Amino acid sequence: MEGKMSEQTEYNAVSARDGEPTDAGSRSTAAQAAFARGRLAFPQWSGLTVKERLQYVRRLRLLIAQRNHEVASVISAATGKPTVEALSTEILVVLEAMRYLEKTAAPTLATRKVGTPLVLFGKKSYVQFKPRGVVLVISPWNVPFQLSMIPVLEALVAGNCVILKPSEVVPAVGELIGRLFGDAGFPEGTVQVVQGDGKTGGLLVEQGPDFIHFTGSVPTGRRIQQVAAERLIPTTLELGGKDPMIVFADANLKRAVHGALWGALCNSGQICMSVERIYVQRPVYDTFVRILAQEMLTLRQSSSADGDIGRMTVPNQVRIVKSHVSQALEDGAQLVSGNRPDEWRDEDMTIKPVLLLNVKQSMAVMQEETFGPVLPVVPFSTEAEAVQLAGETRFGLSCSVWTQDLTKARRVVECLAVGGATINDVIMAVANPYLPYGGVKEGGIGRYHGEEGLKSFSVETSVVVDSGKREREVNWFPYANKEPYFSLLIANWYGERRKLLGFGRAFLKLLSISRKASGPS
Ligand code: NAD
Repeated sequence: MEGKMSEQTEYNAVSARDGEPTDAGSRSTAAQAAFARGRLAFPQWSGLTVKERLQYVRRLRLLIAQRNHEVASVISAATGKPTVEALSTEILVVLEAMRYLEKTAAPTLATRKVGTPLVLFGKKSYVQFKPRGVVLVISPWNVPFQLSMIPVLEALVAGNCVILKPSEVVPAVGELIGRLFGDAGFPEGTVQVVQGDGKTGGLLVEQGPDFIHFTGSVPTGRRIQQVAAERLIPTTLELGGKDPMIVFADANLKRAVHGALWGALCNSGQICMSVERIYVQRPVYDTFVRILAQEMLTLRQSSSADGDIGRMTVPNQVRIVKSHVSQALEDGAQLVSGNRPDEWRDEDMTIKPVLLLNVKQSMAVMQEETFGPVLPVVPFSTEAEAVQLAGETRFGLSCSVWTQDLTKARRVVECLAVGGATINDVIMAVANPYLPYGGVKEGGIGRYHGEEGLKSFSVETSVVVDSGKREREVNWFPYANKEPYFSLLIANWYGERRKLLGFGRAFLKLLSISRKASGPS
């Protein structure tokens, strides 16, 4: 188990501090070198048993648990989120995912015996899960630790070597991840962190990874998928969201308000599963809005340990939020809480939470990913109307439904095209590692987390085993005289009533024809 990735970490640390190589030639060389190192490390790492790989994971988990404060500080400084959020939405979720892997990966990836139909008489079947090779993980800036660590860990546990390209916006987090894997003693070349922007990401994709796990925006996901399609590289794409929150009149209203505030304002609203649209049933609409506006004023804006809402992470996101809010106000929306966008200074990275009423479904703030601390609230009358409004989107990451009537909540969830849902809660589907995670429509393609996630980093090989004693199979050449018996076998076996006797006779006859065709040896 002795191994180091210190050289690689150092290489990455240098590139993180000084900026990635700027000329295309050096970038390309760096990308090629990373894949060469990954391919070199692959035979040894993939040759370990899952349990042996998990010993490294355990060591890393203990390390992160022990250094949680330091890790949270790095995340908080890089992103602007309060340290409590770094601890609860990043570190805690990653550690839980690690525990889940330690507990379930070995049985999930174990060779699985499956049934064999009678028509394949005498054979056995099983499915084997094998590593894919060198996996490329590309991650975004908003939840940079969690969204890098979990796919990297799943890929590693499944036996792959991994190249992580973290977001250029938060290089310190990429550097931290490289250091943690190095300190946990992962063998050299098993995990590499390659720092750089989209161009570096593009060059890494062009190296032909054996699998790409991408988390980020829809346009980038599309570009990656186009290159991957040319080369038939399998991918998982975790993309955008415009999550609706549906509050029925019978909901625990105070809980719904608190849920809306956290769901919309956690990480300053820069979460793919943030509450981006709130639909409230008319009888409680006014009360909901009143309590929401009051409670909003009690939140503290600071990235410190006691702060609730941190700063925005990137200036460009502030511009997007500003433009959505401005458009909405120009188009007749009412600003109940927060500052008018013309009062925001360009350099201001802290946006006061915005509560908008009188919004229209067609506005950018209701259709595009705002990714900021903005809560547009819309009334609805009936369950059918809520489902319709929530479903009018090109995204489909997740949704939340708030009601005391769990049957109604389940019914609504069933009607919506979403990858995840929470009932009387928000965002938490991503925090349960047992649940597969991913989106539909522009929310993404594929899943990670859960059994499905681990398997997505594996090649499934389906095996049929025959003892090899017979010379021929009944379906092999020659076909002479077999047609009536195949016809009989099918009619007896797949018709409305199964006729075992007729099936058996036809099968024995086919066996005997095959045997005769083989002749004496
Ligand atoms: P982004 O698409 O701009 O960048 C994501 C990553 O892709 C970065 O590391 C970037 O350097 C890299 N990249 C950019 N162009 C590339 C290219 N041509 N080839 C390869 N890599 C390239 O996204 P972002 O702004 O960092 O993140 C915000 C977006 O991510 C939002 O849309 C958000 O909804 C989405 N997101 C989705 C999830 C999810 O789980 N579905 C989670 C978090 C964020």
